[in-house]
Amino acid sequence: MILQAERELLVEYGKRMSREKLTAGTGGNLSIYNAEQGLMAITPSGMDYFEISPEDIVVMDLENHIVDSNRKPSSEWALHTVFYKNKPEIRAVVHTHPIYSTIFAILNKPLKAVHYAIADAGVAEVPCAPYHLFGTVELAEEAIKACGDSKAVILANHGLITCGTDLASAYSLTCNMEFVAELQYRSMSVGTPVVLNDEDMNQVLEKFMTYGQPGGKKGY
Ligand code: 13P
Ligand code: ZN
Repeated sequence: MILQAERELLVEYGKRMSREKLTAGTGGNLSIYNAEQGLMAITPSGMDYFEISPEDIVVMDLENHIVDSNRKPSSEWALHTVFYKNKPEIRAVVHTHPIYSTIFAILNKPLKAVHYAIADAGVAEVPCAPYHLFGTVELAEEAIKACGDSKAVILANHGLITCGTDLASAYSLTCNMEFVAELQYRSMSVGTPVVLNDEDMNQVLEKFMTYGQPGGKKGY
């Protein structure tokens, strides 16, 4: 089976995403890009994450051709390929509908530096891309345009998308963005949050370069 290791990882993280309530029902989708083979493994469309097995993962190239599948790929395959095409270092994409991030998606508002953890996205503010119908090339194009240098972007009236150099970091970025979104929401409901300024955030971004163990994952 081609991309077996990637398929197994996607099955594991799909269950985790559902269990940790980062998405509801069959919403959300995950992919891994194998750059050596020029192939992307992506979750199937509309399947219960607890029912998906490695054989159900679809393998595609970045030119929209299905290479190996028993199933229809995620309707958001274009949203995933656009990240691999535009961000050469990226090897995994996670799209979810988490409650607090999606509240800001509904407000069409970015995530702000209410907590330094936002720097895990590599920026001080996570932008919100304009609304487009799910599963369209227009949504993919607007998402990557709004994303800029960020590794996370809010999709208006829809959800969140994050990317990373591997699935573990794209997934933990989703968790960190949802953490920031929850803090932003909760602090706004009792007062006016103080947003960290550019100078403070530049220091955090710098410090994240050496955060953690030497040789280990950089960032948060
Ligand atoms: P799929 O089930 O086709 O992956 O779609 C879920 C989703 O979140 C669409 O935006
Ligand atoms: Zn979605």
